[in-house]
Amino acid sequence: MKAMSRNPEAIARMIRQAQTIAVCSHVNPDGDTLSCAAAMRIALLRLGKDVSLFCDGKVPDQLSFLPGISEMRVPSENDGPFDLMLSVDVSDPKRLGACADLIARSSHTAQIDHHPTNPVFMEENDVDGTAPAACILIREQLKLLGVELDRDLAICLYTGISTDTGNFAFASTNAACFRVMSELMEYDLPLAKLNRILFRDRAMPQVLLMGKALGGLRYYEDGKIAVMTLTQQDFRDCGALAEHADTLVNFGLDTVGTRMALLAREDENGTIKFSLRAKEPDTVSDIAQAFGGGGHPQAAGITMDGTLGETAGRVLEAMINKLNG
Ligand code: 5GP
Ligand code: MN
Repeated sequence: MKAMSRNPEAIARMIRQAQTIAVCSHVNPDGDTLSCAAAMRIALLRLGKDVSLFCDGKVPDQLSFLPGISEMRVPSENDGPFDLMLSVDVSDPKRLGACADLIARSSHTAQIDHHPTNPVFMEENDVDGTAPAACILIREQLKLLGVELDRDLAICLYTGISTDTGNFAFASTNAACFRVMSELMEYDLPLAKLNRILFRDRAMPQVLLMGKALGGLRYYEDGKIAVMTLTQQDFRDCGALAEHADTLVNFGLDTVGTRMALLAREDENGTIKFSLRAKEPDTVSDIAQAFGGGGHPQAAGITMDGTLGETAGRVLEAMINKLNG
């Protein structure tokens, strides 16, 4: 399934007609969703709009360099009404978290997203399940709005595209990524500095958490599946935040011979958050969807109620069944 419901012109029209605009990112915000929001903020301000940025979650420290991202807030009952609510990189309404409340307080709604599992849930939608990053679609929207690039926009777009393509390495990486990149390089993009921040630097609690995750790594089905779990106690022992677990699942997947990996962790709010990964041609978005989650074919996630051991066991069983299917 490749969700495809493209109407970027209608979204540009909605934006032109609106004055107060709420831009919303997804829960557990990543580089792509926050970069989309930061880029739209710059563009909308330039068009003379009143812009508010919302996310039901904390901006990872690692991404605090994004221009204007410190304006990102969790929505409260006092926010709104808005002429337009625009969600960016949000794969389904559940991923809006508390931002979902803003829908009823907005005259119009729109979304720009690239998740193949997107159920196309807004009034106007630019959903392209083949785009390697939502930021690629934002680049197109800026063109429609007549907003010229500058260094800050280049920083945003680079961050979204590079993080969602695993630094231009995933199968989703395509010619459009490099076309946009060649444009961005014309705007004094600090590539080496950002590359270090995004792909090399690790906070000390993150390194300690990596040790915990690797220490508990277990293989199943002759190593074809790698499983890691992290408890709230593990996070406390390392002084780590949820964001520090974000890429750890890859250590399991990167094992030679491993085809699928999962990282299950206890969240502060008591739910269990799963990161599922696969190497092509294996897929995990179907497994995620079976448990109420979603995402991309080779990178998907689930949020579940229950205990770590019980829920991880059920998802592992689904992975084993799929492998032997
Ligand atoms: P991550 O494992 O990095 O948190 O997420 C991988 C991908 O799966 C992302 O594209 C993300 O949007 C999606 N995803 C993560 N968690 C969930 C979830 O609970 N529900 C849905 N529908 N998608 C998720
Ligand atoms: Mn994305």
